[in-house]
Amino acid sequence: MRWNQLGEGTPNAPSALFGTDVVSRTIDTPEFRGVTFHEVRARTIINRVPGASRMPFTHTVNPYRGCTHACVYCFARRTHGYLDLDTGAGFDSQIVVKVNAPELLRRELAAPRWNGDHIAMGTNVDCYQRAEGRYRLMPGIIEALRDRANPFSILTKGTLILRDLPLLREAAAVTDVGISVSVGLVDAELWRTVEPGTPAPERRLDVVRTLAEHGIPCSVLMAPVLPYLADSPAQLRATVRAIAAAGATSVTPLALHLRPGAREWFMAWLAERHPGLVRRYEVLYAGGAYAPRWYQRRITGQVHELAAEYGIGPARAGAHRSPRPERAEAPEPAVEPDPGVTQLTLL
Ligand code: SF4
Repeated sequence: MRWNQLGEGTPNAPSALFGTDVVSRTIDTPEFRGVTFHEVRARTIINRVPGASRMPFTHTVNPYRGCTHACVYCFARRTHGYLDLDTGAGFDSQIVVKVNAPELLRRELAAPRWNGDHIAMGTNVDCYQRAEGRYRLMPGIIEALRDRANPFSILTKGTLILRDLPLLREAAAVTDVGISVSVGLVDAELWRTVEPGTPAPERRLDVVRTLAEHGIPCSVLMAPVLPYLADSPAQLRATVRAIAAAGATSVTPLALHLRPGAREWFMAWLAERHPGLVRRYEVLYAGGAYAPRWYQRRITGQVHELAAEYGIGPARAGAHRSPRPERAEAPEPAVEPDPGVTQLTLL
């Protein structure tokens, strides 16, 4: 292991990365203040999704672990624990970078055992988070996929994807490329607190617009829909209307899920920002990580109705495949609404 300590307060490399070649850097620029990058040379890059997974894709590529977009609800927080890293603030600031991802991918795609399956990216953490501006791994990854005409999809909140527009167009000319942007809300006040490191929702919708203008269809994963915070009829309408105006090919709603790791972090945020909602969330998520089926059905129905009203078509084949919702069923709880959340400003 190589250990290179740069800057003040660089923490120890995560013990789960021992045995790999690690360089950890704390970058003292305004953009990355307080962020540590753990640069590793991965041994493999194409991940096979376990058969028991409910994910509708079989293979993924994740050049990063951790995400400076810092969404308080992020379901990937738990995976930082596998590296002995903190799943709260550590997830937002301790970023593992697989610096050899492009060359490794090119090699694995050329191996005789690789059968050309669709590869999904942005399924664990965002591959166009701010670190990508520094490490520029995605151009090499897209080039490798383009050169093998290997179908792929990208889900992102990062406007940085537009940097790679020419490459995406080249790839789309030879294979199936599905781009999906994640926009669960357009409420500026809520966005600043719940997704503090992300580009604003309007900027993300600009990405949808720009891709469409350049002949790359883009869908929107309307996720997560935050119960009691961003799910009023007026809020859903504002979000779907903005998504439609951006020219999205489809919109797929997904209610918040709270797996261990994300749950503790999100609930602490909720207790601080919206204490009146804590009890309602405890009731809604009493059955596990997923909102009950009645809630999912209600959100899906409302969003689909709005999508039809605003003329957004159904999800097309090849668009980013979003996780299927849980089939858990539970009775609708009788809890009084939090009066505070009706005051949120809609864009
Ligand atoms: S952008 Fe995606 S991966 Fe990054 S913190 Fe937000 S939800 Fe997690």
